[in-house]
Amino acid sequence: MSQLDAKIPQGPLESKWSKYKANQKLVNPANKRRLDVIVVGTGLAGSSAAASLAEMGFHVYNFCIQDSPRRAHSIAAQGGINAAKNYQNDGDSVYRLFYDTIKGGDYRAREANVYRLAEVSNSIIDQCVAQGVPFAREYGGTLANRSFGGAQVSRTFYSRGITGQQLLLGAYSALSRQVGLGKVELFTRHEMVELVMIDGRARGIIVRDLVSGKLKRFSAHAVVIASGGYGNTFFLSSNAMECNGSAAWQCYKKGAYFGNPCMAQIHPTCIPQHGDQQSKLTLMSESLRNDGRIWVPKKIEDAEAIRAGKLRPTQIKEEDRDYYLERRYPAFGNLVPRDVASRAAKERCDAGYGVGTGQAVYLDFAEPIQRLGKDVVTERYGNLFQMYEKITADNPYETPMMIFPAIHYTMGGLWVDYELMTTIPGLFAIGEANFSDHGANRLGASALMQGLADGYFILPYTIQNYLSDQIQVPRFSTDLPEFAAAEKEVMDKINKLMNIKGKQTVDEIHKKLGQIMWEYVGMGRDEAGLKKAIELLADIKKEFWTDVRIPGQAIDLNIELEKALRLADFIEIGELMAHDALDRAESCGGHFRLEHQTPEGEALRHDDLFAYVSCWAYQGENKAPVMYKEPLDYEFIERTQRNYKS
Ligand SMILES: Cc1cc2nc3c(=O)[nH]c(=O)nc-3n(C[C@H](O)[C@H](O)[C@H](O)COP(=O)(O)OP(=O)(O)OC[C@H]3O[C@@H](n4cnc5c(N)ncnc54)[C@H](O)[C@@H]3O)c2cc1C
Repeated sequence: MSQLDAKIPQGPLESKWSKYKANQKLVNPANKRRLDVIVVGTGLAGSSAAASLAEMGFHVYNFCIQDSPRRAHSIAAQGGINAAKNYQNDGDSVYRLFYDTIKGGDYRAREANVYRLAEVSNSIIDQCVAQGVPFAREYGGTLANRSFGGAQVSRTFYSRGITGQQLLLGAYSALSRQVGLGKVELFTRHEMVELVMIDGRARGIIVRDLVSGKLKRFSAHAVVIASGGYGNTFFLSSNAMECNGSAAWQCYKKGAYFGNPCMAQIHPTCIPQHGDQQSKLTLMSESLRNDGRIWVPKKIEDAEAIRAGKLRPTQIKEEDRDYYLERRYPAFGNLVPRDVASRAAKERCDAGYGVGTGQAVYLDFAEPIQRLGKDVVTERYGNLFQMYEKITADNPYETPMMIFPAIHYTMGGLWVDYELMTTIPGLFAIGEANFSDHGANRLGASALMQGLADGYFILPYTIQNYLSDQIQVPRFSTDLPEFAAAEKEVMDKINKLMNIKGKQTVDEIHKKLGQIMWEYVGMGRDEAGLKKAIELLADIKKEFWTDVRIPGQAIDLNIELEKALRLADFIEIGELMAHDALDRAESCGGHFRLEHQTPEGEALRHDDLFAYVSCWAYQGENKAPVMYKEPLDYEFIERTQRNYKS
């Protein structure tokens, strides 16, 4: 398919979604019972979708890797979820949330999708409150809000620093109700390892039972991928260890296009790397930037003395501190978007002003503690401070935290149209697994919003438009040859891996992959580096397929085999990311090409050349992928250079 149809409804921005809903095809209740839907994933996107679809009457199979849906990576989300409620009366509106999100994404997202996201954002809060999610409240009982980067209003709803956990408990309770009613069949510790296609449509999946190691077949009328992002390609990231891109990658290899793979978000406030033996990085929530102030020493000799352990940050006088975000971006200060804050931190560290190992800056709470009192700061951020102290053995109430940017979120993913359907009929993708509504950069608190919007309020409508044509299609037998062929493909791959019997562990090779990705496809990229990365990644691929060692048995609980299957895909995802980054000879959002920057070091877009979604199509083993373009037509807003200074 070279012609991409995003299926964006005609008409004014404000009425596109209501017009779509008024005209879409529906499935009547009696027919819903006869239709099966597979949902892969139980994070916020997957569990909200599975619960909603079952509540509507469909029969749902729901899968996750963890031993409980509640352990999906969404549980880690700390800071909050956006919505345009305007409780603060500070000027917020659906239009302003739409505008900030489009602008924050550096004009590389679809207008219609983002407007719809802003439009349904308010319903998400109502739904979650009805489920009992304990959002923070003001003294009078109304829901409280705080600010996140890239916005001048307070629109972020939160439950202290455990918002993702609380939202997931809400979705999980809705899911559990449907499991109890028998409408959702839940399979924990089951990993999708292949997509099954029949006559060009998605009709099922092969899963590996992670406890017994056995392969199992499932058929359905439609398949929904809600398997999260692929940030762990970089090995070190803020993502949970089990986050992976394999389900999406299997769909890509079966013909689904992959959108904007190179667009990975870097988060500015991770706890810096402290050694070689680490397998993940810990995020400190962006909400800390509401009150915390970011600085490095003004004088290079002070930075050197701090690094040598001869000076403590508290000994640096106020006038000798460089609050570089407040200095460079007076209008947004410490609340500039993540890409801007990350680049600025790297710039200061590269210039020699970094603290700690040299790859860190301070996030300081001395001033807010003095202004608000320790109790208020504890009330707002107490659990984050506790977490920081447990990890670093440093008390952030007394000395400033140290932070540094790290890979956090992937804006790329399976390409989907307005209905959230991929280029494979019957295959849908939601949440972080799709290329989503974020453009080149995701503003804080908008991933939870998008995952829940997709699962609760968008997919339940749009999937009916597809399923209404499937009501005559009887349930598929998993004895069909297509299932046998897909299962054989997986078994062959597993046997091949088990028989390599090389010398390196999966993690050793994954670390090498991560180093290449961070150095050449990370925060700053250039043409020469990206070309080199493509060569190095081909070498890593060879190394993996000739030298990895997987102990144990294939048909058994085997965590090393699980990791190896995912790493095989991460290596190829890395290659696609490098190809995409090489094509995009501009800087936009989190994607910074060193050759394309303004004299002040800001991202320089080339709207005349790159106002498109890059949609990559798989061409077969060892063949270069082909890219198709979905042009991004801006009908309703004017693209401008992003400005957070005034
Ligand atoms: C530390 C941290 C803090 C964050 N804080 C915020 C925040 O404050 N606000 C915000 O908006 N965003 C935040 N984010 C981003 C946000 O949490 C994620 O983008 C979002 O939760 C992703 O949800 P999801 O449902 O798409 O995927 P996930 O929650 O990652 O769920 C994926 C699901 O798919 C399953 N799965 C994966 N592969 C397979 C397979 N092959 N077979 C079967 N099952 C599979 C997993 O078991 C899991 O159930 C944060 C992210 C991190 C890392």
